[in-house]
Amino acid sequence: MPAALLAGLLFFGRTFDFYTEGPYDSSVPRPEKILGYGPGERHTFYHDQERVVDALIRSAPNRAKKIVYGTSVEGRPLRVVAVSSPANLARLDQIRKEHEDLAQGKGDPNKTVPIVWINECIHGDETASFETSMWTLYTLLASRGDVAKALDKAVVILNPVYNPDGHERYVVYYNSISGGSAAPDAFEGMVPSTATGRANHYRFDMNRDRVAFSQPETRQEFAEMLRWGPQVYIDQHGQVASYFFPPEPMSVNSNVDRARNAKWTERLGRATAKAFEAKGLGYFTKEDFDFYYPGYLDTSTTLTGAIGMTHETDGGRRVAREREDGSTLTLTQGVFKHFTSALAVVKETAKGGQDILADYARFKRRAVSGEAAGKFRRVVMTGDPRELSRMKEHLGYAGVESRFAQAFNQPDAHDYWSTATGPQNFPAGSLVVDMSQPQAAMAKALLEPGQDFEPEFIKAQVDRFKGTKDPDAPDSAEFYDITGWSLPYAYNLKAWWCETAPVVTTVQERSSSVIVGSQLGKSTIGYAIRYTDQADILAVADALLKGVRGGVTTKAMRLGTNDYPAGTFLFVAERNDDDYEKTLFEACGKRGARIEPLSSAYPESTRYSPGSGSVMALRKPSLAVVMGNGTNLAQSGALWYLMERVFMLPFTPLSSGALNGGNLGRFSCVVLPSGVSTASSGGFADWLRSGGVGVALDAEWAVRESFTKLEPRKGESLPGTLFRAEIDPASFLGYGYASKTIAVPFSGSPFFTAKDSAISFDKDEKKSLLLSGWEWPDDTEKALHGAAFLQDISVGRGRLVAFLQDPTERAMWPGLYKALLNSMIVGSAG
Ligand SMILES: [Zn+2]
Repeated sequence: MPAALLAGLLFFGRTFDFYTEGPYDSSVPRPEKILGYGPGERHTFYHDQERVVDALIRSAPNRAKKIVYGTSVEGRPLRVVAVSSPANLARLDQIRKEHEDLAQGKGDPNKTVPIVWINECIHGDETASFETSMWTLYTLLASRGDVAKALDKAVVILNPVYNPDGHERYVVYYNSISGGSAAPDAFEGMVPSTATGRANHYRFDMNRDRVAFSQPETRQEFAEMLRWGPQVYIDQHGQVASYFFPPEPMSVNSNVDRARNAKWTERLGRATAKAFEAKGLGYFTKEDFDFYYPGYLDTSTTLTGAIGMTHETDGGRRVAREREDGSTLTLTQGVFKHFTSALAVVKETAKGGQDILADYARFKRRAVSGEAAGKFRRVVMTGDPRELSRMKEHLGYAGVESRFAQAFNQPDAHDYWSTATGPQNFPAGSLVVDMSQPQAAMAKALLEPGQDFEPEFIKAQVDRFKGTKDPDAPDSAEFYDITGWSLPYAYNLKAWWCETAPVVTTVQERSSSVIVGSQLGKSTIGYAIRYTDQADILAVADALLKGVRGGVTTKAMRLGTNDYPAGTFLFVAERNDDDYEKTLFEACGKRGARIEPLSSAYPESTRYSPGSGSVMALRKPSLAVVMGNGTNLAQSGALWYLMERVFMLPFTPLSSGALNGGNLGRFSCVVLPSGVSTASSGGFADWLRSGGVGVALDAEWAVRESFTKLEPRKGESLPGTLFRAEIDPASFLGYGYASKTIAVPFSGSPFFTAKDSAISFDKDEKKSLLLSGWEWPDDTEKALHGAAFLQDISVGRGRLVAFLQDPTERAMWPGLYKALLNSMIVGSAG
């Protein structure tokens, strides 16, 4: 018997009976028979959960079917189990098709049964949910009582673990040090930050990823969920002080049909409360967990038509933990509560089956007809075709349909970036999203420029801010997460929303006007890559890495009949080996970059030419990202993901200790997440002064480390809002941007007066800066006008580029990637 089990038993002040749903089919084995321990007595590894899931399904093949829907980043299979009565399971594919019809606004809700989706363990160290899945699955398969009756009228899709990589990382570490101690400061509660399990491989919090849809787990699960179109989606978490289930408090996203959501969270919440009270279990509801940001599982699934619900249990992460009042909280208790609430929801959904299906069908019909979107009928985006293609792909991950259109005229276009409204001619290749589609609510939530809070919610926040002594006013601002995310701003695209959706002709996706190597004319002088998209600078990086030598213009040039703006990349024959063209063309072909032969090197106007000193030589990039304990892993993880999966740029993950003692001489650029400790003197500072480029993802750090002096300003903390900022046209950090106005995210209150700013907020106090999300009246704009966003600080012969807000955050701000790549690749040019 493992030590943890022996110790665990001592804490059981209460027993939790998992077998009250009888009679049971004895041919289905209880999980403890397979595992050798009972629910919550220790933490289960992924492969052992797999053994239990497979054995349970094998014992009742007419009631359950395993569906592998994907693979985690580290290669673990992602799977769900569909469970129902034998009669329903025999027609499972037909039921899925009936739901597909309902999702398209068609079909008959009376001819099918509702689907309840139960999700476990998106946060890998909220371990009660992982353990619960095995006893929930057992009960669904083996019970011949009320649960079996419910399954005559419903299908359950159970996901035993959404984030297997995070869970395994945590549990391997925890089990290796666990002795089952409940002491508050027991060693087994001290997990090094690199071994924590909440996030996935790249350290993304995947319960925030349903706006960026960046992570493989997110994309694969969401696609599988859309294939089924569940009416109820439970997402089981931990660990809070007492069990939570919906209804949720305000604010609720305005694209959620609030009346339907309130009706069903109330009904399912009361059923859960009743089940808890019958077993003497505590809970709370209607507090803390809002429903505004669409990046959560509960909100995003609600926007697709489900009643999405977060369940938070108390026990978990450790086998046992002593509370402040001396009582002991166990993993077993956490498991028991999730188990109880999941079964309560399944039973209640089955009871309300036709009603919940009818409500769902109505929601989808209103989406497909366009009625749900009101005056927000269409969004049109224009810009570099490569950026538009990435936007189209992104919307596809969210289940949102979009298309490229022939040139067309729109009578009623509202500009996202100004107050201009009226007729607009859109060029061929514009990206069009019509809201009359099954995912209308999701499309609108992701795309609309502003966000919309309930008036009573706003009043409560403003009253508290103004110090009103209303006893019911919240103690602190009730924004649970960010409030601005609108995708056209996040991508920094020109965009319009339209009140009507006249017919437009779809065109095949353009392969863009990219000229690949084989089609290219030759030049004895050299070649230019115009910089309008991240693909261009990434092609340049590839060529530099392969030994091609190139430069970047810092002044506009006119060569032959062509104008080249500052920021154009130049590769001249004189500076390169004989075979450089082949390498260069290959890099451009692979990345989809435009390249053109130079017809002349003679300056037609001005004095600047490829041979002039105004062209800075680019250094072969040798990039490092600081990682490890003490650093902000979410920041370095986001950059890790971007470098590996989006930019596909090689880099060295560097330990934080290397900054003070290591050999930094081999790097052209070192990226520093917050939390890194260094000093303005010593190894890192010397390396900067001798020509290194540091990129700080948190400029407050640069201030603390005394690399720059910024004058602080007062302002109330912001809940992730999008503002308009201006790029300094003289700065290399703005190369590649068509417009010098850019949308930037701002959270917290790091307001500093701009000096040496490459991106800052307009000084003119008459101009409104807000683009999307929440700002404090008579406060935020005062703090922001004239404040800094991106600093370029000279340090000896090197420089420190410092972002006031992390451009890699949640991989949500593609519009900032060119500035980030400029800092890493152009920053070291000289
Ligand atoms: Zn959680």
